[in-house]
Amino acid sequence: MSRIDQLSLRLGGISLITNEKAVRAKSRDFFWYSPVLKDALDHVTAQAVVMAQTEDDVVRTLAACFELDIPVTPRGSGTGNYGQAMPIAGGVVLDTSLMNAITRIDDGVLICGPGALMGDIETATLAATRQELRMHPSTRETASIGGFIAGGSGGVGSVRWGMLHEPGNIRSVRIATMEARPRLIDLTGLDINNVHHAYGVTGVITEVEMPLVKAENWVEVLLTFDDWQACVAAGWDILDDPDVILKQLAAIQTPAPYCYFVRHRKFLQENSSLLCVLVADRWIESFLALTAGRCVYRSDTASDDDKKRLPHLHHLCWNHTTLRALKIDPEVTYLQLGTRDGDEVNSITDVAKMFPDEIINHVEFTRSQGKARASMLPLLRYHSKLRMDMIVAQLADIGILNWNPHAYTLEEGNHRNPDPSQIALKRENDPKGLLNPGKLIGWDNPDYIYDMKGGYHAPQMQVKPCVP
Ligand SMILES: Cc1cc2nc3c(=O)[nH]c(=O)nc-3n(C[C@H](O)[C@H](O)[C@H](O)COP(=O)(O)OP(=O)(O)OC[C@H]3O[C@@H](n4cnc5c(N)ncnc54)[C@H](O)[C@@H]3O)c2cc1C
Repeated sequence: MSRIDQLSLRLGGISLITNEKAVRAKSRDFFWYSPVLKDALDHVTAQAVVMAQTEDDVVRTLAACFELDIPVTPRGSGTGNYGQAMPIAGGVVLDTSLMNAITRIDDGVLICGPGALMGDIETATLAATRQELRMHPSTRETASIGGFIAGGSGGVGSVRWGMLHEPGNIRSVRIATMEARPRLIDLTGLDINNVHHAYGVTGVITEVEMPLVKAENWVEVLLTFDDWQACVAAGWDILDDPDVILKQLAAIQTPAPYCYFVRHRKFLQENSSLLCVLVADRWIESFLALTAGRCVYRSDTASDDDKKRLPHLHHLCWNHTTLRALKIDPEVTYLQLGTRDGDEVNSITDVAKMFPDEIINHVEFTRSQGKARASMLPLLRYHSKLRMDMIVAQLADIGILNWNPHAYTLEEGNHRNPDPSQIALKRENDPKGLLNPGKLIGWDNPDYIYDMKGGYHAPQMQVKPCVP
C-alpha cells in the first residue's frame, strides 16, 4: 500500500484529493512570475492535497504525515510569487482555505482562521464595526490572511503602518507543530517573527489575531508628471506631510503607466510617470491643493462608467504593476531593491540612470518606525539570468541590494545567511524536517553563505522528467 493510501486510511473523514490534475493545480502558485523559478519549479507536484476544515484536521494530518514521513507544504490561496507554496519534495499540500471562519470582531481586534480572504475579512469588519485591517497585499481579494503572514511582507497600508513584521501589525498567531503529537502554540510579540515570512517551515498557522483600525473612506487619486525625478520628489513631499492620511503611495516611471495600465490610458500621456495615491476623503481637498493640478483621476468624482470599468488602484501597485506589465509583455520581469540608508532619493535616481534601456523604476513609499522609506520594485527587461545577475551585481556595487524575487528559499529571498535561531526552532517544531522541505537552506546546510546570484538547488527537489 502506498504511503498516500495509508494516509487516506488514517485521515478518514478529512477530505483528501488525489486526482492528478487537481493536485497539480493546488501544487502551484504564482512562481511563473519569475522566468528563473518557472524553469526551476514547473515540474513540481504533490501526491495529494488535504483540505483541512478545522484545527483538529490540521493536527491529525500533521501527526499522520509525521508517522508516515510524508512532507507537508501548507497553502492558503497560492498567490505567493516565489514558489513558497510549492511542494518541492512532493508529499502533501495542506490546504487551509476552508479554515476561513471569522470568530471575533471587536474594537481593534479580529480573530479568524488562516484561510479567511482579506477582502472577505474587510467586508465583515466594515459591516460590523466600520473597521479595516491595517494593511493588505495588492492581492487583497484572493489571498488568505494566513498566507499573507507566512509568505507576504507588506502592501497597501504600509505607507502608514510599516511592513507586516513591525511591532503590533500582527497581534498573535497560533501554530501546530509537526510531531507525533503536534502541539498548539500561541505566539505573541517578537516570537511571531518565527512564523512570519517563514513559509510555514516552523509550524502550520491555525488561527490569527490581527489589529483593526477605524475605517476611512479612501479616495483613489492618480497624479501625472512628465518628469520622473519630479514624480519621485512629489512622492517624498506627500510622504513628509504629517497632515495627510494615506493608505497607499507609489511612483511608477514612464513608459510603464501608458503601456501597461491599458484601462487607465485615457488619463495618461505616453511620457507620463504616475503617482498612485489612496488618501482619506476628509483630506482630499487639502491634498489636491498641494498637488498643483497634477490630478488626472479621483475616484470620488469619477463617472459611473469609469467606476465600473477601472481596476482598483491597488491593482496597479506592488506586484500588480509587474502583473500588468507581464500581461502585455511576457519578456518583462522585476527586482526588489532597497535604497541606501539615508540616501533614498539618489538611490532611486541611480537605478533609473544606470540601466535606462532595461529598467523602468517603480517605487513603493512606506514608513518604518515613523521614518519615511522607499523600496523599489523596478520592471526589468529579461534577457537571461546571466545578464540579470550582472545588473544585480552592479547595483550591489553602489550599495543597492536586491531581495531576490527569483529564489524559492528564505535565505536567498531575504538576503541573509542561515539563521541559527530559526533552525533551532525548526528542530523543536519539525524534528524530521517535513514542513515545506527545501525552503530553508540552513536546515540542509548550516554553513551556506549567501550568494546574491541565487540559483540554490534544494536536495529534496523532485527530479525533472526528461522530455524527449
Ligand atoms: C499580482 C500579485 C501581487 C502581490 N502583491 C503583494 C503585496 O502587495 N504584498 C505582499 O506581501 N505580497 C504580495 N504578493 C504575494 C502574495 O499574494 C501575498 O503574499 C499573499 O498574502 C499570499 O497569500 P496566499 O493565501 O496566496 O498564500 P500562499 O501563496 O498560499 O502561501 C504563501 C506562503 O505561506 C505558507 N502558508 C500558507 N498558509 C499557511 C498556513 N496556514 N500556515 C503556515 N504557512 C502557510 C505557504 O506554504 C507559502 O510558503 C503578490 C502576488 C501577486 C501574484
